[in-house]
Amino acid sequence: MHVPRVARTPGAGPRAKAGGRGWCVAVVAIFLVGLAVSLTAGLLWRQSVHNSERQSFNVAATDVAETAETLLDQQADFVSSLRTIVTQEPHLSASEFSTWLAELESRQPQVEGLGSLVIRSVPASQLKGFLAARNADPAFLKLVGGKLLPTGGRPGERQCLLAAGVTRIPYRQEVAELVQSNWCDPRSAIGSFPDGGGVTQAQLMQRLASSGKFGVYPVTAQGLTTCFMESAFYRAGAPLSTAAERRAALLGWVESSFSVQALARTALEPYTDLSIELLHTEQHEPLTRIGGAGSVRDPRHTSSTSFQVAGRWVVRVAGAEPGPAISGGLQGLLLTLVGLTLTGMLAALVLTLSRSRERALGLVDEKTGELHHQALHDALTGLPNRVLALDRARHMLARSRREQTPVAALYIDLDGFKHVNDTFGHAAGDQLLQTVAQRLQSVVREGDTAARLSGDEFVVLVEGRALAGGAEAVAERVLEVLRQPYELEGRHGRELKLTASIGIAAGVRLGADELLRDADLALYEAKANGRDRYVVFRSAMHVAAQERAELEMDLADAIERGELVLLYQPTVDLPSERIIGVEALVRWRHPERGLLTPDRFIPLAEETGLIVPLGAWVLREACRQAAVWSISGHPISVAVNVSARQLDTHKLLGDVQAALRESGLEAALLTLEITETALMRDPETTAARLRELKQLGVAIAIDDFGTGYSSLAYLRQFPADSLKIDRSFVSTIADSQQSTAIIHTLVQLGKTLHIKTLAEGIENRYQLETLQHERCDEGQGFLFARPLPVEQVEALLANAGVPLGKDKVAS
Ligand code: C2E
Ligand code: CA
Ligand code: CA
Repeated sequence: MHVPRVARTPGAGPRAKAGGRGWCVAVVAIFLVGLAVSLTAGLLWRQSVHNSERQSFNVAATDVAETAETLLDQQADFVSSLRTIVTQEPHLSASEFSTWLAELESRQPQVEGLGSLVIRSVPASQLKGFLAARNADPAFLKLVGGKLLPTGGRPGERQCLLAAGVTRIPYRQEVAELVQSNWCDPRSAIGSFPDGGGVTQAQLMQRLASSGKFGVYPVTAQGLTTCFMESAFYRAGAPLSTAAERRAALLGWVESSFSVQALARTALEPYTDLSIELLHTEQHEPLTRIGGAGSVRDPRHTSSTSFQVAGRWVVRVAGAEPGPAISGGLQGLLLTLVGLTLTGMLAALVLTLSRSRERALGLVDEKTGELHHQALHDALTGLPNRVLALDRARHMLARSRREQTPVAALYIDLDGFKHVNDTFGHAAGDQLLQTVAQRLQSVVREGDTAARLSGDEFVVLVEGRALAGGAEAVAERVLEVLRQPYELEGRHGRELKLTASIGIAAGVRLGADELLRDADLALYEAKANGRDRYVVFRSAMHVAAQERAELEMDLADAIERGELVLLYQPTVDLPSERIIGVEALVRWRHPERGLLTPDRFIPLAEETGLIVPLGAWVLREACRQAAVWSISGHPISVAVNVSARQLDTHKLLGDVQAALRESGLEAALLTLEITETALMRDPETTAARLRELKQLGVAIAIDDFGTGYSSLAYLRQFPADSLKIDRSFVSTIADSQQSTAIIHTLVQLGKTLHIKTLAEGIENRYQLETLQHERCDEGQGFLFARPLPVEQVEALLANAGVPLGKDKVAS
């Protein structure tokens, strides 16, 4: 061993020794501290690696278990639907069943399986009839591969026989034989199956019949496991509270199957390093292993989730040991071995790293959650969107089928929301929708759903106790909260009033789509009946919707087939009561439904856009007729009604020009009538469009004046030549002073703005005289003439000198 040279230097020895010792102590101390620090760091590091692994496994396992639950829920739902249909239609034939099943499958998604079967419990007395009907059914023959076989039951005995079904894999000879035998015979070959936990099929079926519950059992063949879900069904309406009652009302069993591997694969979809195992049990029974998928060599994590779907299910998920990366512990050791300085630095680094790793993981979790939320929620209001609403509705219906709880969907649409958008701008519209969303949420209970479907359409889903007062009570509450005035930002003190219409569909349906469609049909009715109300769905609405759809189809051809006709209602000069013009009013001679008035088809034409070609036809025909009258010496003016939808396009200008050009009618003899409501939809654009029309030389009349949103202030903006005072004011002249006052104001307004006034719907002399007294310029109504065919108008024109209202008695 080499002796240090310092030892030979006298005096320097002890200092150097002391210094060496101190240094050593320091080194040891630092080393020890470093060791401790790096060990701790190593341990911490190892722990954090382990924790985050565990955490991401837990997230994945929960996801897998939730998917499995949803899939199993859908399976149980499917069997519930089967049970419902065979209960309601106990005599469904095999053919009808297959058709119905195909439809159900297209609506209710399912994991692939072997198919679905219906087994009937047939008393000996009905056996002959049952067999005759069943065996003659082509769908049944197809099911059993074309070969009918004896049932093997003993005479005089009740038998459990295959009645209908659909199979994915055609039955082999032995199976076809098996399924045709008596299922309830414990000696029959079908009476036992390997995985049933020692229970035979016959026993299982009796047990299901007594309990009314779902039975679940796996059958494994060639390494693939099929899980059967089976349930008894009973006579509709029979009491079913005790086992004896259930046995007495028993009609048979339905069963459907799914491939356990397919279900497991779907549940595991994005996770390659997980495996899943499904177990099932009825009350008090031991857990049965149903099957699973995925292979994990050396499971490091396991998780077990239990839930209730047709009995208790347990899902076990196992996760693999991560790859051969250096373990947390080794990393810690390495740290210790690196020098003291490095140890300290590394320790610090490790700590920082471990923290930022946690933060990053947290961020990932947060972002994933956010994305999930965004996909299922409406960005503006934060309410569930259509996708989530449909999903919730599906679950609600499934619960209702299982637990017989009441359910309802309320389809809500705001009245005149478009007007708010057009008038106050989109920002205001958005704000209003947010308020509406808050109010809807304040009305629903926890567990119920308020969702936004689109634009100004919302849906509220309610079930159970929330429906104690009926869906109508909920609808009343919704209407009430939505009716409260809305305050819009930046318009202090200006409150907006808005109403809503609601369609209600109550009670269980086959699917969520049906539920919402029925509610939507009821909503249509609520709108048609005048809005600000709710209407409950009735099945007759399907018929009405059908009729609308038929009329709509017919209407498309009505113009070409020449089924539209015009009647002309005279307008008179009020002081002299002489005819000065006519208003063209359209009718539809429907080949089957007879003569239809505009209220039957104009709204439909407006909805579908057919109003544009229809309106063009009316313009051409009215101008042609007026030109004929003009040439024959009666230059009277003709008024044509123009719909809002026609005003939305540039086409109107061209249509009017073409009608005038083709007929040769003088433009001044044509008046376009536009309702006040149509004008107010988008006042600026409409005013510009009307000015273009005016330049052709035609006159403009504002129809149904006094009923719209308006707006005397706007009136100046429109180049109107006359105001048609709405019939509702004229008809109430005798009983409402207010009406007379309004008429007075409108006539005066006309005089100030140099716009003619015309009163609609004059039916008696008292009304006529009041209007004459108010100095209203023109009038129209049954007192003078109803809408008339051309010949009768011509007869009147021939007598043009005679005042039209004079011969009628005052009433
Ligand atoms: P409108 O423009 O207000 O037409 C007047 C309606 O009141 C006509 O009903 C007419 O028969 C009725 N009427 C006239 N005088 C009296 C009266 O004294 N008492 C009563 N009770 N009613 C009277 P009609 O023909 O059923 O038309 C209804 C609505 O259909 C019209 O209301 C108009 O808005 C629309 N319409 C009619 N033809 C056309 C058309 O060619 N195109 C468009 N877009 N709409 C049309
Ligand atoms: Ca009119
Ligand atoms: Ca009118």
